[in-house]
Amino acid sequence: MESRNNSLGTFGRYPRVIFIMGTGRSGSTVLDLFLGQHPIIQSAGELCNVVKSGWIGGEFCSCGERVPACPFWMEVRKRWEDLTGATPEEYERLRFLVEQRRSTLWTMLRSDRLENLSLSEKGPGEFLAYAQWTVALYRAITEVNGKSIIVDSSKNPARGLALAMMDQRMDLIDLYLIQLVRDVRGFVWSQRKSFRRDERAGVAHDLAPRPVWKSALVWLFVNSICEKVRARHEQLRTLFLRYEDFASDTLQEALKIASFLDISPEPWLDVLAAKRPLENSHVVAGNRVRMQRQITIRPDTEWQSRLTGFEKALCWLLAGWKAHQYGYAWRSQTDAVDPVEGHNLAGPHYIRSRQSLADKVADFGKIEE
Ligand SMILES: [Zn+2]
Repeated sequence: MESRNNSLGTFGRYPRVIFIMGTGRSGSTVLDLFLGQHPIIQSAGELCNVVKSGWIGGEFCSCGERVPACPFWMEVRKRWEDLTGATPEEYERLRFLVEQRRSTLWTMLRSDRLENLSLSEKGPGEFLAYAQWTVALYRAITEVNGKSIIVDSSKNPARGLALAMMDQRMDLIDLYLIQLVRDVRGFVWSQRKSFRRDERAGVAHDLAPRPVWKSALVWLFVNSICEKVRARHEQLRTLFLRYEDFASDTLQEALKIASFLDISPEPWLDVLAAKRPLENSHVVAGNRVRMQRQITIRPDTEWQSRLTGFEKALCWLLAGWKAHQYGYAWRSQTDAVDPVEGHNLAGPHYIRSRQSLADKVADFGKIEE
């Protein structure tokens, strides 16, 4: 294991990773796919699941192949194995210990000193191996497709925290953290729905509905941890994003993200203006929308009519104070969303004219100055 680890130490802060964190069903898959429309960005979905669900479990990739038969992930796996000398099973064991075990999260939150971080009696070596094998996965992806930035929409803040340590303490990656938030009531509504297992449609397991109170507390808990993770990272490389803003004014948010990443927004603006379909990519785990050829960015308003008054009140009682901090109001602003601004990216009318696009870009320039 010694020699494998050393081979990765000389690459400095490479690769560049955009990590999207937050609760499930907060629009991260759509955001991930949208970011991936940029020619230097690879949309990779929930990378935390590529090894377990993809390489080991054989689930479907968004290209329609099962992951073990998908040429992209086959090539990535080969590179990853060359870089690490590890097996997917060995990596998955360590990944579980870091990302899925509550006690590791508490340890990482209490201290970011690597010497304090042991996953078992074997000492900190296991965390180092986990970190280097994770970085090797990012590197393998960038080497296969030649793109310099990867979007990882795993969402789990424990992974976000581990990545922040890889950036801040180990200088292994260049991490851009996005906390993506959705209105607590929208999240609660999404958890009330259930889905039947349908692998080809992107639903790998039956998803049972979750009670309102429980979802509200999960939302509160996950977002509070995400804030702690952001506080650990360099301010300039963290971004707070509300899904509702992204859905109702995608252009403005795209400009913000481009400025955050210090890259040109042009390719995203072209996608929005030219109404061309999103290009297919190789996304393994994530929301079932990843399996659709045409991705719609919709304002999230369904909960307003589907949740009862009591359910909304219960959400607000439990998590309203945090939602308020995030700029949400009890009486939702999204009622006022102009239907023209809710858009099918691939459809006929994302933005009405080039003129309005240019105006918005000019306005944004002013704000930035
Ligand atoms: Zn594929």
